[in-house]
Amino acid sequence: MEQTSHHFNENVRRALAEPTLKTALDRTTTLLRTRRAKVIDAFPQYAKARETAQKIKDHTLDHLGHYLRQFEENARANGAQVHWAATPEDARRIVTDICRAENAKTATRVKSMLGEEIGIAEALTEAGVERIETDLAEHIIQLAGDPPSHIVMPAMHKTHEQVAELFAQKHQDPGTKQDIPSLVESARRELRPKFMNADISISGANFLIADTGSFVTITNEGNAELTTTPPKTHIVTVGIEKMVPSLKHAAVFIRLLSRAAIGTEITQYTTFYNGPKRAGDRDGPENLNIVLVDNHRSDMLSDFLRPMLRCIRCGACMNHCPVYATVGGHAYGAVYPGPMGSVLTPAMTGLKGSKDLPNACTLNGRCKEVCPVNIPLPDMLRSLRARQFESGMVTPKAKWSLKLWAMLATRPALYHFCTTIANINLRVLARGQGKISAVPFAGGWTRTRDLPQPEAGTFMQQYRKQQR
Ligand code: SF4
Repeated sequence: MEQTSHHFNENVRRALAEPTLKTALDRTTTLLRTRRAKVIDAFPQYAKARETAQKIKDHTLDHLGHYLRQFEENARANGAQVHWAATPEDARRIVTDICRAENAKTATRVKSMLGEEIGIAEALTEAGVERIETDLAEHIIQLAGDPPSHIVMPAMHKTHEQVAELFAQKHQDPGTKQDIPSLVESARRELRPKFMNADISISGANFLIADTGSFVTITNEGNAELTTTPPKTHIVTVGIEKMVPSLKHAAVFIRLLSRAAIGTEITQYTTFYNGPKRAGDRDGPENLNIVLVDNHRSDMLSDFLRPMLRCIRCGACMNHCPVYATVGGHAYGAVYPGPMGSVLTPAMTGLKGSKDLPNACTLNGRCKEVCPVNIPLPDMLRSLRARQFESGMVTPKAKWSLKLWAMLATRPALYHFCTTIANINLRVLARGQGKISAVPFAGGWTRTRDLPQPEAGTFMQQYRKQQR
């Protein structure tokens, strides 16, 4: 997808002017938040599992080279071909070379954010391979010509009424009903023959398992299994940080992923792949290619962004982020939206073109609270802001405002004097109406919301009054 993070403010204005978007986001984020809270409450070992998951990931990242070598050796012993891709270009070349060698005309694809990250869709089109998205939400956005707007629910920005309209235009047999089960049936009728006749299958993986050379896919629709089984050749593209040492360790993450992502105890389908079809197997691909992608992950290992490599792509941080829930994923203008995207996008594509993303955060801390692997997203976003400031990426206005703030914040008497004056002025501006609609030099804030009238006196003045 085309990155438009450098137009974040325009993207946000466009999103705010779209009333259906807010309806779609509200419906889904509210449902996901409620369901997640319920299953976490019913999981007494949650805190322990979260702590263990963090430790496993930190250990694996400390010894990533070792586990990658172990995985490669075991995957090859299982009969897979293992490829290394340092950049998205490398990954695309490897995938399209395999498609050309197989003379592939069609490829079924299971949703994978890594696939989006490296631009698989565009590469397949250029190579003349028809791409068939098999995840229901991905199928919807493929028909609509949209990029994904969420990492777990890519069509979160669409209401089911919009989907019904889309299917009526694009499906051969859309049916007459417009309720959700009928829409799913219609997609099933459309996709089933395509699953069976594809030349190549392309998937991601949720986890790589070093000591067995296996990988895992986790879906609710069973489309991963339907995608990867019939074609002769299966290609897996996966980020190197998805590694865990063993099956036992993978189980810890499997218990957390679906609870955090969609608020269910387990997903419908969790499949462990252990090499291509063997003699005597009735089905499965004859060739299995695993493409291990770096794309700046190695750089992140030695940076303050290292904890971000613990991410298991559950999307909980987005579902609980008030900014994401207001503007949706497209406003972030990058593959990864929301809080995790505001950290990953600068790490992968540079801070210069995505400098508004870390500043979009309100630092309310909910993303860290709900993250199943305890990634300190607000701290990292703050550090990215500091990095921007140090490398002179802020506007002169912001730079001088911060310098003024630092000067005031380190001089308590002056700070007290200024806040008292500001308090009096704001109360005058409120004209006794309880709110302020416009504040000089703060138009960016008051253009879309009112500022509440301040209390009589600053916090310290009121605190002292209480002490007496
Ligand atoms: S940062 Fe945490 S909450 Fe967000 S997607 Fe990654 S694992 Fe999930």
